[in-house]
Amino acid sequence: MGFKDECGVFGLWPELEASRQTYLGLYALQHRGQEAAGICSRDGVKLHLHKGLGYVADIFTEATLDRLPGNGAIGHTRYSTTGGNVASAAHPFLVEGRFGQLALCHNGNLTNTESLRKRLIQAGQVFSSPSDSEVILALINRAGAATLEEAVMEALGQVQGAYSLLILTQDQLLAVRDPHGFRPLAMAQLGEATVFSSETCAFDLVGADYVREVEPGEVVIVDAQGVHSRFPQPRVRPKPCVFEHVYFARPDSLVYGQSVMATRRDMGRLLARRHPVAADLVVPVPDSGVSAALGFAEASGIPFEFGLIRNHYVGRTFIEPRQSIRSFGVKVKLNPVRELLKGKRVVLVDDSVVRGTTSRKIVQMVRAAGASEVHMRISSPPTTHSCFYGIDTPSRDQLLASSRDLEAIREFIGADTMGYLTLEDLQVTMQDHDGQSFCYACFTGDYAVVPEGLT
Ligand code: AMP
Repeated sequence: MGFKDECGVFGLWPELEASRQTYLGLYALQHRGQEAAGICSRDGVKLHLHKGLGYVADIFTEATLDRLPGNGAIGHTRYSTTGGNVASAAHPFLVEGRFGQLALCHNGNLTNTESLRKRLIQAGQVFSSPSDSEVILALINRAGAATLEEAVMEALGQVQGAYSLLILTQDQLLAVRDPHGFRPLAMAQLGEATVFSSETCAFDLVGADYVREVEPGEVVIVDAQGVHSRFPQPRVRPKPCVFEHVYFARPDSLVYGQSVMATRRDMGRLLARRHPVAADLVVPVPDSGVSAALGFAEASGIPFEFGLIRNHYVGRTFIEPRQSIRSFGVKVKLNPVRELLKGKRVVLVDDSVVRGTTSRKIVQMVRAAGASEVHMRISSPPTTHSCFYGIDTPSRDQLLASSRDLEAIREFIGADTMGYLTLEDLQVTMQDHDGQSFCYACFTGDYAVVPEGLT
């Protein structure tokens, strides 16, 4: 299936300090990927690229940003679990081909990468990484069209699945969203510049004014002539990913034009109504459960407390002690506040359960801190299916809810009671009146684009 990427993209044109603004944009999108980041700029002569492994703040310095001149730039933050943590897989990808230099960053996952790769390799194409983004670049370069813009349209006709793309050349910046709009992509204005970002929190940091979403199936083209827009593919019913609102996006962002904080709070409110419980405290699993826990506390009237404190300085890896400490991986990130929890009936609120290993350790931790009862509430439905559109989920057999009923899940987690939001309640919070306006595949297995491996 290739890479599973949870990524952030940001780009703008024309803006004097394009690479510095992109750096800030990526800084705001750091939560969408901590493994690698990169920026590519254009200055009328050349495209300039710098990318590396790690956090945005560690990859770029004043000196590296000075080496990214020009008034147009695109950038990317990358999270990947398969395909390895290697610098060659970092975005943007910069290649030279029929249309001169071309850079691309991609958020999402194509679902027909394997067959496209096979066909392209047979036709003589070479690849330097397993990334599906390289496939898109190869398709653009091999298209019969005479102009880059038409070649991109031709390439888009062949790829399936999830893609929010930013493409940069010497003359153009293109922002592309797949016809289902699986992954977000928003548009803003900063002076003369048109700005694109996965989430609006990046617009806030650079002082850009949010304009609108790039629509599903839309290609927005920015060049010397200004900004124009095309819809090259047949229209389909959009299926933007609901999990952005459940977990992935920052609560201070608008995603698909809706406030993430507001939807998460609503999820918490409905959860409290659906699964009421007599308790003394509502405690969020930070940070992912905070907004829903606020809604839960509000609707239930049970006081909200930060009973678990998160260490914000934990990176993706840490050196473990030689002598193993029980639940070290969770303990290093979260620590209970004993004085708050002791003797209390606690409602723990988190956004989702994936494998269940974290929830289980947190429940143990809260009990060990003296809680008399622990009630687990999850502000989304049971995650029963893998995502093939860019959210990292393990294979189905590793998903706790794929093969267990509620009671078996409760027992595994070790909670006194357990409650999930229903799919219908989730649809209410998304204002999805006929239940068809978002992708809920991780909760239903209803895949709008069936991935190659599953056919
Ligand atoms: P687990 O122990 O596998 O059940 O992990 C559940 C925790 O992982 C919850 O606190 C979620 O907020 C978080 N989570 C959910 N989806 C993802 C994801 N795609 N990537 C990373 N963390 C996630």
